Amino acid sequence: MSSSKVAGKASYKIASIPADGIGPEVIAAGITVLQKLAATLKTFDIEFEHFDWDSAYYKKHGQYIPDGGLDRLKAFDAILFGAVGAPDVPDHISLWGLRLAICQPLQQFANVRPTKVFRGTQSPLRKCSTGDLDWVIVRENSEGEYAGQGGRSHVGKPWEVCTETAIFTRHGVERIMKFAFETAQSRPRKLLTVVTKSNAQRNGLVMWDEVAAEVAKGFPDVTFDKMLVDAMTTRMVLKPESLDTIVATNLHADILSDLAAALAGSIGIAPTSNLDPTRENPSMFEPIHGSAFDITGKGVANPVATFWTASEMLAWLGEKEAAKQLLDCVESVCEKGIVTADLGGKATTVEVTNAVCKEIEETLSTEKA
Ligand code: ATP
Repeated sequence: MSSSKVAGKASYKIASIPADGIGPEVIAAGITVLQKLAATLKTFDIEFEHFDWDSAYYKKHGQYIPDGGLDRLKAFDAILFGAVGAPDVPDHISLWGLRLAICQPLQQFANVRPTKVFRGTQSPLRKCSTGDLDWVIVRENSEGEYAGQGGRSHVGKPWEVCTETAIFTRHGVERIMKFAFETAQSRPRKLLTVVTKSNAQRNGLVMWDEVAAEVAKGFPDVTFDKMLVDAMTTRMVLKPESLDTIVATNLHADILSDLAAALAGSIGIAPTSNLDPTRENPSMFEPIHGSAFDITGKGVANPVATFWTASEMLAWLGEKEAAKQLLDCVESVCEKGIVTADLGGKATTVEVTNAVCKEIEETLSTEKA
C-alpha cells in the first residue's frame, strides 16, 4: 500500500479505470464528489491516475491490460472501476480480459455488495421501507462456478462437447466463510445466512456447508442459518427484514445481488467492493451495474451507485467517518427528490452530482461563511 501520512493527514493514490458505456460518466461523477469531500473535510488527500483500458483499447491492441499493467496497479491504494463491455466484443472476452484479469491475480477474493432502501427512494415491494431491507451480500470472488475451468471440443459440430467445471477448494471456502462471519459480527444484528445448493450439488456445496459449520464455532455471537438458493429468492422478496449478512458462491451471489439491487429500488444505486482482505494487493471498487449502452452518452446515468462505491472505498482505506458522511449526503439528496429517471426523477447525472457536492459543502464545511 502506498498511502502516506504527512502530519497526521493521509494521502491516497487511486487508479481509475472508467472503461466502457456509462462507466466514464459515473466515474467522473464519483471523482468530482470525492475531490469535493476531501477539499471540504481537509482530513485526507486523494489523487487519481487514469487508465484508458477499455474495449476500444482492446480492439486496437488485442489486449485490455498492457504488459506490466497489473504491476502498475499494485502501486495504488485502491482501484475505482466503471464498467466493461461493448456490443462488438463478446461478453466473456471483455469480462475475462479486464475485470476478472484484475480481481483474480490481485487475490480480491471477497466481493462485498451492500444493499439498502435509501431515504427518499422506494422499493418495488409493497411492504418494505427504509430499514426493512439492509443487507450485505458476501460473494466468493475467486473460484466456484467462475473459476474458468473447462473446455470445448468439436466446436460447431453436432457432437460438440463443453464442460464448465465449478471449483471449490477448502482454502477458498474457509477464507470467504471467515470473512463473511467477521462481516456479520461487525454489524448490529450479527446474523448470517449461508446460501447453498447442497441438495443438488452434492460435492463442492456439501463441503461449503461443512466449512460454514466449522467456521461458525469461532463466532459464537453470530447467529447463522442455511438456505437453498432457490428458496432464498422467495425469502428476499417475502421477508426482506429477516436477512442481514448473506454469503454465497460466485454464481449464486452474482444473481442474488442483482435481485437485491432491484428490490432496493434500482440497479443504479448498488456498489461492489472486490477486496483482498489480506491487504497485500489494492482492492477494487465499482458500481454493480454494467455498461448500460441504452443510456450511454445521454447524461442520465444514476451516479449514486458510484457515490456509494466511493464511500465503501473510503471506509476500506480507513476513512470511516468520511465514508459515512458522504453516504449521508447522498441519501439527503435522494430524500430531496433530486434523483435520476431510474428512481422516478428527472435529474441528470450532473445535476445529482452537483446536488451532492452542494450538500457536502453545506453540511460538512468547517469554515465559517
Ligand atoms: P453489462 O452487460 O455490462 O452487465 P448491461 O447493460 O447488460 O451491462 P446493466 O448495465 O447492469 O446491464 O443494467 C441493465 C439496465 O439497467 C441498463 O440497460 C439500464 O437501462 C439500467 N441501468 C444500469 N445502470 C444504471 C444506472 N447507473 N443508471 C440508470 N439506469 C441504469
